[in-house]
Amino acid sequence: MSSREFELATGNLLIGRFTWLFIYLPEGWRVKPGDSPTDVNYTTVIKDMGWVVDGSASYYIVNLVNGAVLELDVKCSRGIKTPKQGANIEVILINGHQAYITSKVVKRGLRRQLHTQTNVQIPCTNTSRTVELTITGRSDFDIEELKRYFAYYRCH
Ligand SMILES: [Zn+2]
Repeated sequence: MSSREFELATGNLLIGRFTWLFIYLPEGWRVKPGDSPTDVNYTTVIKDMGWVVDGSASYYIVNLVNGAVLELDVKCSRGIKTPKQGANIEVILINGHQAYITSKVVKRGLRRQLHTQTNVQIPCTNTSRTVELTITGRSDFDIEELKRYFAYYRCH
């Protein structure tokens, strides 16, 4: 396991530990817990490994060098979902699955500043769930940098 791989997991002693997925970040980036409450509705255990099947969580992805902060929202839902056909869907391979990337511009914050929002949808047949990641940041450049490592993410 690399120090640049981060396990996004939740749980406690009572319910056990459940993982959303493993993400892989460029040098100098770290994951921090987000502000929204974690919501877990359904989990599964496959080969002694607990996974969240239905739920949502939020994190920050922080650049320790330039101080950039991006939001990362993670959503898991039961079953295999693929996006409706669209012109701007980029298909990449993540952990052996065909995953789908879309990006759009959104307005965020009190000053309604323009942000880039990139969505990654990973239909994981091994855990019978669809993992959806939404990354929101002020700089296209930061998101492009993170995107180069999407192929190393692990969902099972
Ligand atoms: Zn998978």
